[in-house]
Amino acid sequence: MTQTPLNPGDSPLVREALSSVVSRETSVGQAAGSAGPTSVDGDVWPRPAKTRVIAVANQKGGVGKTTTSVNIAAALSMHGQRVLVVDLDPQGNASTALATEHRGDVPDVYQVLVDDLPMADIVKQVPDMPNLYCAPATIDLAGAEIELVSLVAREARLRRALAAYDAVEFDYIIIDCPPSLGLLTVNALVAADEVMIPIQCEYYALEGLGQLLRNVDLIRAHLNPTLRLSTIVLTMYDGRTRLASQVAEEVRSHFGDTVLNTVIPRSVRLSEAPSYGQSVMTYDPGSSGAMAYKDAAREIAHQAPVA
Ligand code: ADP
Ligand code: MG
Repeated sequence: MTQTPLNPGDSPLVREALSSVVSRETSVGQAAGSAGPTSVDGDVWPRPAKTRVIAVANQKGGVGKTTTSVNIAAALSMHGQRVLVVDLDPQGNASTALATEHRGDVPDVYQVLVDDLPMADIVKQVPDMPNLYCAPATIDLAGAEIELVSLVAREARLRRALAAYDAVEFDYIIIDCPPSLGLLTVNALVAADEVMIPIQCEYYALEGLGQLLRNVDLIRAHLNPTLRLSTIVLTMYDGRTRLASQVAEEVRSHFGDTVLNTVIPRSVRLSEAPSYGQSVMTYDPGSSGAMAYKDAAREIAHQAPVA
């Protein structure tokens, strides 16, 4: 298992990626061409005309943000998309699940946000996943919430870092947010075009959602006019309980088409996969959780582009 640093121009893979970007103008809307990444099962999804930057946010912990980020990213990468996961949670759970070193003094998102380290210096290819990359978070990131306060352009550090990085080679950049509405999540929302909110099908699921949506509105008004809530995904659905279907119904009545048709069931496989440094897509592709995340990712890939 080798990890290739993503220094544009350095690796053959990146050169190939960049050359496929050049030819993308003509191939937009078509399935990935022969020069681009291919699908594991022949099911090829359309690549977006430009990079979609998606912040996966919900200030509640344990609702499935990381599980959703990692598995949607893996599923997209296995179906013709080039994907970067930015781990913005000091817990580093997404980095763990993607087998990306995030202990000791490995350079991480903290150094990008606080010390202006280029993104290219921290991004690693995910082992055995040729189209998937991870920008890891170490525990140092826990300090960023405070340290960012006194920095210039504190809300736009991630946006700037992604703009300076040759991010155009990615079809998707998925940002796994921490369970808070602090400056790290604000950085994600300023860097993103889209917000995806995982909602756990449990009692209290909607509590706090109003606050998150108000924050999205504030950021749209003041810092990032093009930000929009594009996707809600219902997670940890237990079909045996009436509560789960009631929550799902309520969320759908509020948010309509924004809610993916696919619901993510409770699946032990989903919670086991990270300890093997894998997404469920490779750990147990036939499990209900893997099939649901694949369906969810397919829906996302086919969402209508914004005008
Ligand atoms: P968050 O990032 O919002 O804190 P996680 O994705 O880490 O949430 O999920 C919280 C816990 O629930 C983790 O232990 C994860 O493995 C588990 N989990 C997430 N989604 C599911 C699911 N659909 N079925 C079973 N366990 C899940
Ligand atoms: Mg998480």
